[in-house]
Amino acid sequence: MKLVLMGLPGAGKGTQAEKIVEKYNIPHISTGDMFRAAMKMNTDLGVEAKSYIDKGNLVPDEVTNGIVRERLAENDAKNGFLLDGFPRTVEQAKALEQILSDLGTELDAVININVDKDILVKRLAGRWICPTCGKTYHEIYNPPKTQGICDEDGSELYQREDDKKETVENRLNVNLKQTEPLLNFYKETGKLHNINGEQEIDDVFCDVEKILASF
Ligand code: AMP
Repeated sequence: MKLVLMGLPGAGKGTQAEKIVEKYNIPHISTGDMFRAAMKMNTDLGVEAKSYIDKGNLVPDEVTNGIVRERLAENDAKNGFLLDGFPRTVEQAKALEQILSDLGTELDAVININVDKDILVKRLAGRWICPTCGKTYHEIYNPPKTQGICDEDGSELYQREDDKKETVENRLNVNLKQTEPLLNFYKETGKLHNINGEQEIDDVFCDVEKILASF
């Protein structure tokens, strides 16, 4: 099973990735994880990746495509893999086709976990933190007894910039704009499968299994 998994932040990609790699016994290949591991070990790749990641930029294609090419050539990826975080652009998608063709294979499917933007904003934004004890709340899923006040010590809660609605919305809009051409690319290849990510975790996975059953 040779797969690409896509989904906006908050869509539940991480959860579904875990379930997919377990059930189909394939390696989970996440470029973000590979960069983080390299940064932790301070390798040449890590030092280079850090200079981009710290500024919030994408790591250049020649570096990213290179690590994916090496990783996909490893033995454990011969019978399948789940790519996560790659490709992120149409250029990378084309590079992936070339890499796989060089390895004598091709992608089976691209799974896109779809969740409406307003729901993602609700899931991702709305976290409030107590400056005194560090306890976190969510204004919808786990609200404090009194709005804006910590249950434990009565301190006034605050929001991190990253957790504010406007910031989250902005991040999602940037992401949406970036993924649209990629989704169109895979739609044209006939490999794109959209899954409704607004259901319970197990129901989302059930839909994934239904699609993968045909491969
Ligand atoms: P992620 O965990 O997928 O959000 O990745 C963390 C960071 O690693 C990103 O913000 C990028 O800077 C870098 N990165 C991960 N995947 C890619 C990719 N496919 N192309 C370029 N940069 C990437």
